[in-house]
Amino acid sequence: MEIINLFVKPSPESREAHRRVEAYFEDHGFAISRLYNEKARYNIVIGGDGSFLRAVHSTHFSSIPFLGINTGHLGFFQEITLSDLEEYLELLRLHRYEIHHQDVLCCTVETTAWTYRLLAVNEFLISSNDDHILHLNVGVDGVDFINSSGDGLMLSTPAGSTAYNLSAGGSILHQMLRGYQITALHPVRSKSFDSLPSSLVLPAESETVLTIDGRDAERIKLICDGVRHAFRGVKRLTFSVPEERIQRIIFRSNWYWKNLRDKLF
Ligand code: NAP
Repeated sequence: MEIINLFVKPSPESREAHRRVEAYFEDHGFAISRLYNEKARYNIVIGGDGSFLRAVHSTHFSSIPFLGINTGHLGFFQEITLSDLEEYLELLRLHRYEIHHQDVLCCTVETTAWTYRLLAVNEFLISSNDDHILHLNVGVDGVDFINSSGDGLMLSTPAGSTAYNLSAGGSILHQMLRGYQITALHPVRSKSFDSLPSSLVLPAESETVLTIDGRDAERIKLICDGVRHAFRGVKRLTFSVPEERIQRIIFRSNWYWKNLRDKLF
C-alpha cells in the first residue's frame, strides 16, 4: 500500500482539507501517515507558506516530493485551493504533474567551539542582536568583495525572493532560477563605510563568506526561515547552494505568474 505523509496546520480550513484529502486517498487505497514516513510517496502540506517551511524543516529537507494545499492567504508554495481540491488530487493520483527541483541555501557557521550546518528554503538573515551597526567582510569566490556596514545582510533563495527579501528591497527571482541573492539591510550611506549599491544575484556555483570582526562575534543574530539560531563566538559564515534540493509537485507551469500577479500586484 502506498503511503502519503500529511502535515496539517491547526486551523478550521486546514482540518476541512485534511478530512477531504484523507477520504480521497483512503478511497483509492493509500495509507495516510501523520508522522513522517521515509517510505512515503508524497509529502502533502495543508496550510500556508509558513506551514510549508515548517514541514520541510521538520522532515530535514526530505527528498520525497512536496505538494502544498493552500488554506491560508495566497501561498507561494501551493497551487491547490479548497475549491479545486479533488480535481488536483485526481491529477496527483494519475501522476499528471511535473516535479520542480528547488534549490535551497546552505550556511556553514564556524564558531570558536564548533562548526554547524543549516539549510534554508527562503532565506538567512544576519543582523546584530543589539542596536549597533554590523560590519561584515563579504568575500565571493575567494575575492574580498566588500565590507558591508548597516543592519546586516539577507541571503535568499529564488523561492524566498518573494518573502522577506522583497520587503528588504531585493529583486524577485523566478522560483526555477538557480542561485541566490544578497540584499543589504538598511546599508549605511556614508563615505566612511561601504555597502552593496543594490541586491546582488549570484550563480549556484558561487560561495559567499562573511568574516566576522572579533568584536562582533557575540553580537551576530542568525535567522533561518523565520527561526532564530543563537551561536557564541561566530568567526565565519559560508553560504553555498548544496546538493540537497527539495522536490515540489507542479501541475501548471505558468501557475507561478498567476500567483505572483494575484498576490503581489
Ligand atoms: P510569519 O511572520 O507568520 O509569516 C510570514 C509571511 O510571509 C506569511 O504571509 C507567509 O505566507 C509569507 N511567506 C513565507 N514564505 C514566502 C515566500 N517564499 N514567498 C512569499 N511569501 C512568503 O512567518 P512564517 O509563516 O513562520 O514564515 C517565515 C517567513 O516569513 C520567513 O522565511 C520570511 O521570509 C518571512 N518574513 C517576512 C518578513 C517581512 O516581510 N518583513 C518578516 C519576517 C518574516 P503565508 O501567509 O502563506 O504563510
